[in-house]
Amino acid sequence: MAKIIDGKQISMQVKMQVKEEVQQLTEQQISVCLAVVIVGNDPASRVYVNNKKKACDLVGIQSMEYALPEETTQQELLTLIEKLNQDKQINGILVQLPLPKGIDEKKVIETISPQKDVDAFHAVNVGKIMIGNYDFLPCTPAGCMDLIRSTGVEIQGKHCVVIGRSNIVGKPMSMLMLHENATVTICHSKTVNLKEVCQTADILIAAVGKANLVTADMVKQGAVVIDVGMNRLPNGKLCGDVDFQTVQEVAGYITPVPGGVGPMTIATLMKNTVTAAKVQNQ
Ligand code: NAP
Repeated sequence: MAKIIDGKQISMQVKMQVKEEVQQLTEQQISVCLAVVIVGNDPASRVYVNNKKKACDLVGIQSMEYALPEETTQQELLTLIEKLNQDKQINGILVQLPLPKGIDEKKVIETISPQKDVDAFHAVNVGKIMIGNYDFLPCTPAGCMDLIRSTGVEIQGKHCVVIGRSNIVGKPMSMLMLHENATVTICHSKTVNLKEVCQTADILIAAVGKANLVTADMVKQGAVVIDVGMNRLPNGKLCGDVDFQTVQEVAGYITPVPGGVGPMTIATLMKNTVTAAKVQNQ
């Protein structure tokens, strides 16, 4: 039976470390402030934004919310971001995705100053991650790394399979595992032998968005299984990409959904905001 990796507990440890760092900065008269921009009325985005603001309150980071109506134009949003880029009080800028139709997400991300890009989505930060010389790590993959490290399982030399190749999760996740000397395989919707590839994974990371895609017969005995997926079932329940009930019989370690990767994403955002404040005050 797999050991459950408790993302809630580990994320709380990270947030307490961040809280200490915020206190130290306050003693040096440095305040830490995150601007959170939300456009439109997507209920899931509202929940995420509220959770991020709660985390800011907990660790002592000031959060400034900019809630814009659904009909906001791309130019209006870009103008706000440019204003936040110039504002010395703001250390980090987070634009909650997805954005309403008609707004080009790529353009929005590229407008955020790389020094304030606490999601690490800007091409400059993505490039820095590629060469292993970065200030920020993207929140979800960095959170997954902390969860994997918490198991004590050595990463070096292990076969890591990442299912999903998105710019925000799959690709950076693969890069972080490569930096840790894992041998990495990336799978996607065109992978023909997904089951066979997954069966060889010592560390399996699912970032797809399909409930129960990963079943017990795809998992190697004792593997570390990290479930990034967040799927809403017809009954309203939240579940991951991994069939938790059956996979926990085979895996060595497994993250639950909820209570696994999700809280780590927010904890890393707090870490990145403090890093931004430190870099800007050097
Ligand atoms: P995405 O942009 O939709 O990417 C999904 C990836 O899965 C794509 O690369 C796609 O392949 C691949 N895929 C789709 N069907 C597949 C299949 N049958 N077999 C193998 N690969 C398949 O999604 P994302 O933004 O990376 O997010 C992935 C999941 O993580 C979602 O459920 C999302 O809600 C969740 N998420 C959670 C957190 C958190 O904090 N917990 C943060 C971010 C995302 P192609 O590239 O070929 O299309």
